[in-house]
Amino acid sequence: MATMESLIGLVNRIQRACTVLGDHGGEGSLWEALPSVAVVGGQSSGKSSVLESIVGRDFLPRGSGIVTRRPLVLQLHKMESGSEYAEFLHAPRRKYADFAAVRKEIADETDRITGKSKQISNVYSPHVVNLTLIDLPGLTKVAVEGQPESIVRDIEDMVRSYVEKPNCIILAISPANQDIATSDAIKLAREVDPSGERTFGVVTKLDLMDKGTNALDVLEGRSYRLQHPWVGIVNRSQADINKNVDMIAARRKEQEYFANSPDYGHLAHKMGSEYLAKLLSKHLESAIRARIPSIVALINKTIDELEAELDRLGRPIGADGGAQLYTILEMCRAFDRIFKEHLDGGRPGGDRIYGVFDNQLPAALKKLPFDRHLSLQNVRKVISEADGYQPHLIAPEQGYRRLIDSSLGYFKGPAEASVDAVHFVLKELVRKSIGETEELKRFPTLQSDIAAAANEALERFRDDSRKTVLRLVEMESAYLTVDFFRKLSHEPDKGSNPGSTPNTPAPDRYGDHHLRKIGSNVSAYVGMVCDTLKNTIPKAVVHCQVREAKRSLLNYFYAQVGGREKKQLSAMLDEDPTLMEKRNTIAKRLELYKHARDEIDSVGWK
Ligand code: GDP
Ligand code: MG
Repeated sequence: MATMESLIGLVNRIQRACTVLGDHGGEGSLWEALPSVAVVGGQSSGKSSVLESIVGRDFLPRGSGIVTRRPLVLQLHKMESGSEYAEFLHAPRRKYADFAAVRKEIADETDRITGKSKQISNVYSPHVVNLTLIDLPGLTKVAVEGQPESIVRDIEDMVRSYVEKPNCIILAISPANQDIATSDAIKLAREVDPSGERTFGVVTKLDLMDKGTNALDVLEGRSYRLQHPWVGIVNRSQADINKNVDMIAARRKEQEYFANSPDYGHLAHKMGSEYLAKLLSKHLESAIRARIPSIVALINKTIDELEAELDRLGRPIGADGGAQLYTILEMCRAFDRIFKEHLDGGRPGGDRIYGVFDNQLPAALKKLPFDRHLSLQNVRKVISEADGYQPHLIAPEQGYRRLIDSSLGYFKGPAEASVDAVHFVLKELVRKSIGETEELKRFPTLQSDIAAAANEALERFRDDSRKTVLRLVEMESAYLTVDFFRKLSHEPDKGSNPGSTPNTPAPDRYGDHHLRKIGSNVSAYVGMVCDTLKNTIPKAVVHCQVREAKRSLLNYFYAQVGGREKKQLSAMLDEDPTLMEKRNTIAKRLELYKHARDEIDSVGWK
C-alpha cells in the first residue's frame, strides 16, 4: 500500500514538474497516464461539496450564487507530515496555509479570467490521497440573461473533453430531489463510459427529499444499474455553510443521518462521503496498478525522445572553467582529427596537394622561358658582356656563371607558387574540417577562433616553406656541380671544325656555333637542376607546411587557451541563448524522468 502511494506521489510529482516545465498535458503526456477524478452534474447539484468532502478540506467556493466557470484542476499531494498548504500555478511559490484563503483565491481567480484555460491548484496535506481532482462547470439547460446561446453546448463540450478520456473517473452527481431518469450527469456518463467501469453514481441532497419519499430504488440499483454501487451523500446545506459548520462536524452529522435514517439505516455502512472516498481510492489503486506498464513505457519513451533531442542540441557543458577548457580542447581535437583525415586520406582533399606536385609544378617549370633566355642573341649578349674588353681564352667562365645564375632565378616563381598552392589547399581543408566537426556547430565563436588560429599557423608554415624553397633555388646557384663542367671541358669541340685537331687554334669566340654550344650546355645544366628541384621543392613544402599542419596546427592555440580565464573561456563557448535555454529545460526534464524511472525500478512492481 505504501508503495502504491509512493507511485501515485511520484507520478504526481512528475506531472507537477511537467506543468512547471510547460507540459500541460495532451496526447502522450504523463498527465494522461494516471487516473483523475472529475465531477459532473447540473448546476448546484453539489459537485464542489462532494469534491471537498472527498478531500476532507474546505477550499472550494460553493453555494447557489457561485458558478464554476472553468475547470478547476486540483492536484492533491500526500505529505508524510507537516502542515498542509495549497499552491496555485498562477501564483507559484506562494503558499496558502489557510483554506479559507485558498477558497477566496480560487473564487477570485475564477472571476479574474473567464477563459477556457484551466486553473490548476496544488494541495499538500498529510490528510489527502495523491490524486488529481477536476471540478467542472455545472451542466446547464438554458442560457441565463447575458450568456450567449451557445453556453449550453460549450459547457457540455468542455465537460465532455475531460470525462471522455479513458483515465478519467467520473463522479456523476445527481441531486435526490430531482428525477434520476433526467439526470444530465448520468446521461453524459453513459455516453462516454457505456460499460460504466469508471462511473460512480452519487446521489446528493438525500436530506432534501420530500417527506415520505426516498432514493432506495436508485441507491439499491433498481431504477438504474451501474457497474459500481450508488453512494448516497448528505452535504452541508447552505445554512450549514453560512454557519461555518466545519468538515468534521459535517461528516459526523452525515454519519448520524444515515445511522438514524429509517430508510437508509441498513445501508449506513455503504453511504456517505467517507465511504465514497474509500471506494474511490480502492478503485484508483487498481486503475493505477493496471496502468503501471504503460506509465513505465511512457517514461521510457519520453526519456528516449529527450535523449535524442539532447544529442541533437548537444550536451550541456559544465559551468566551471576546468570543464569549459576541457570542452574546448575536446572540440579542437575533434577538428584536428577530421583535418588529419583529410590529409591522410579517408576524407577527400589531401590528394589535391599531390596534384600540386604532380601537375602544377612540372607544368610551371616546363613553361619557364629558357628558350628565349638561352637564345643565340641573349647568350652572345651575356657572354660578351661578361668577357668585357678581353675575350675569354678557353671557356667563358664568367659568361657561363651569369647565364646559369640568371636561368636558375626563374625557378623561384614556380617554387613560390607551389608553396602558395599548397597553402590554399590547407586553408580550404581547415574551412571544410570546421564545417564537418559536428561538436563545433553549436559554437560559432569557437569556430571562428579555431579557424583564425589554424589560418595563422598556416601563414607561419607558409613563410617558413617559402624561405626554404627559395633557399633550395639559391643553393643551386651558390655552387655549381663541378662534374658537369669537368665533363664539358674534356668534350672535344667537334662540329665547328670537323678536321681540327687539339692543336688548331680555338674557334671564333663569338661564332654562332660556339655560342649555340654554350647555350645548350647551360640548358642541359639548367635541366638537370630542374629535375632536382622538381623533387626537392615538394619535399620542402611537405616538410614545412603539410607535416607541420599535421603536427602542430593548433599548438599555439592550445597554449593560449590554457592560460585563459573562465570568463574568456565562457565567451568562446557562447551559444545561442534560446538554444541554451532549450537544452537546460530538456536536461531538467530528462533528469526528472530518469529519477522517476529509478524510483519505479526500486519499488519493484509485480
Ligand atoms: P455545485 O454547483 O454543483 O458545485 O454545488 P455546490 O457544492 O456549490 O452546492 C450547491 C448548494 O447546494 C450549496 O448551497 C450547498 O450547500 C447545497 N448542497 C449541496 N449538497 C447538499 C446536500 O446534500 N444537502 C443539502 N441540504 N444541501 C446541499
Ligand atoms: Mg461548484
